[in-house]
Amino acid sequence: MTRLRTTAVHGGRDDLADLGVHALPIDLSTTYPIPDQAEGGHALQHFADGGAAHTASPVYSRLHNPTVARFEQALAALEGTSAAVAFGSGMAAVTAVVQASCVLTGKPHVVAVRPIYGGTDHLLSSGLLGVRTTYTTADRVADAITPQTGLVVIETPANPNLDLIDLAAVAAQAGDVPLMVDNTFATPVLQNPAALGATYVLHSGTKYLGGHGDVLGGVVACAEEHAGPLRQVRIITGAVLHPLGGYLMHRGLATLPLRVEAAQRTAVDLAARLDAHRGTVLVRHPSLPGADPAGLVGTQMRGPGAMLAFTTREDPTAVVRRLRLVTPAVSLGSVDTLIEHPAALTHRLVPGAAREASGVPGNLLRLSVGLEDVEDIWDDLDQALSGHCEEDYIKSSSSDFREPVASH
Ligand SMILES: *Cc1c(COP(=O)(O)O)cnc(C)c1O
Repeated sequence: MTRLRTTAVHGGRDDLADLGVHALPIDLSTTYPIPDQAEGGHALQHFADGGAAHTASPVYSRLHNPTVARFEQALAALEGTSAAVAFGSGMAAVTAVVQASCVLTGKPHVVAVRPIYGGTDHLLSSGLLGVRTTYTTADRVADAITPQTGLVVIETPANPNLDLIDLAAVAAQAGDVPLMVDNTFATPVLQNPAALGATYVLHSGTKYLGGHGDVLGGVVACAEEHAGPLRQVRIITGAVLHPLGGYLMHRGLATLPLRVEAAQRTAVDLAARLDAHRGTVLVRHPSLPGADPAGLVGTQMRGPGAMLAFTTREDPTAVVRRLRLVTPAVSLGSVDTLIEHPAALTHRLVPGAAREASGVPGNLLRLSVGLEDVEDIWDDLDQALSGHCEEDYIKSSSSDFREPVASH
């Protein structure tokens, strides 16, 4: 096994030399010639039974796609699992995990620890998949599990407030009940939940894996025995990842360690500066004193990550409106720094009282630190947080600020 950066560059590329190509081929075929239809039938049965690649033929792109399969192999190598199964979005991946672990097994109860991504929260609360969810705290997961529980769901660091959870402790409480850990914030660069007992390691590939804000996808890393049912669900529901998405996320993996490490360095710096700024009340980043009482950074996680959150003294909407460089948008893990207001956007559909109780107040902003120069991000955050008293200064300087952009 190679080291992380090497695996990120070389993973899932084993067959390229034999194909005589250097870049990842994008196979857009929806169907594949099957001269021997009986043999094709065996391949189809293999996929219907949850199998991975078949030597005879992919048969049909909803059953298998070689470009997507290379990405899955690379992601599995980074997460240290025997398999990975990709989907058309992170939410399609969450849905497939719930269907495989709760619907197929007839165990329609989920235990989840808030906060989690608002879309996942909404999916688990909506009843759409026929599951019922008990929300609890990380130390009381065992108490919430019943014989009907098919899945435990956690996120660490949590979206959006960067709460950290001791993965091994929750895995011990979950016992035989499958544990899904959303690893989107940490990425496999900083954390490998499967090694600590997670059954399913979930990523919204839309975020750091793709890394450039131009591809929607999801992926679940897990043991082969759990990958089979996920592939079956994917075939039946058609929640497939487009091969172009597989290509873009696979290409993104090569630079993932460098991007995460660079953005993380900037985030550590910004967290300290934000913490000292009079425009913030509370700053959440695992690097800050007191943010990691259980000492998980350096043990469970290899670093504090590049996501941070802070509450504002002023109306957060006004702060965001003043930003000139930082992109006011949902999503995260892109090359540019993104900011969003969870109560208004990503966590809007979580009931207000439950959202607040889980540590996501109405004045919290979430920041996904990008790859810009730290001083430029800071200048923008500083002026935006410095309030209405400096509005005149901002107005007069905003045209100067835009000038270099227009001239290039
Ligand atoms: C964005 C996100 C998801 C959902 O992923 P999509 O690709 O948008 O469907 C799930 N979990 C987390 C932590 C996310 O940030």
